[in-house]
Amino acid sequence: MPVQLDEIDGISLGVPATGGREPGTGTNEPATATKDLIVWVRQSADLASRLIGDTRTPTTRAFTMAVTAAIQSVNALITAASAHCDLDDPPADIELRPGSSGGLVLRCYHSPSHEWKLDGTRTQ
Ligand SMILES: [Zn+2]
Repeated sequence: MPVQLDEIDGISLGVPATGGREPGTGTNEPATATKDLIVWVRQSADLASRLIGDTRTPTTRAFTMAVTAAIQSVNALITAASAHCDLDDPPADIELRPGSSGGLVLRCYHSPSHEWKLDGTRTQ
């Protein structure tokens, strides 16, 4: 099961510590909507990685399109959560993409880029 974006070292969410909260909560926690987004990213990334990792499924064109759409959906959620890599300056966007080992990885747009497996392990 992938970890949540905010549990991965080097990845930050774009929600400021003192902003983006819901009125009247009195805490610096991210708004509930952002927490939901993070959960959805984890769940949809898990789904996409299961699709890509299921060798029983024939790799038809339709299946490839479904996997591509699943990955794009995850990336839309990552963008909505304003997740970025802060291991270098300035922070860079991150995206889900097929990794060299066949699974899915999170990779940033730094040069050279940083990369994480979905369990949060940094590989680059
Ligand atoms: Zn980076």
